[in-house]
Amino acid sequence: MAEESYREFMCKLVNPGCDFSIRAKTDDEVIEHARMHQEIAHGVKDISPDLEKKIKANIRPVSSDGHQF
Ligand SMILES: [Zn+2]
Repeated sequence: MAEESYREFMCKLVNPGCDFSIRAKTDDEVIEHARMHQEIAHGVKDISPDLEKKIKANIRPVSSDGHQF
């Protein structure tokens, strides 16, 4: 069976000190979760286009065992 790959975003890349990371199958899902996390954990209700760009730029692929490509 082929290794599954995921998209991962680590919140500390936009919020230094935050240990939260998001892993999902698609970039869209990652961004959706990241949006919710920004609101719940960081009080950011509306993600600015700039922040969304930053999140997108920091999404990276990982395999299902957490190994980085
Ligand atoms: Zn965070």
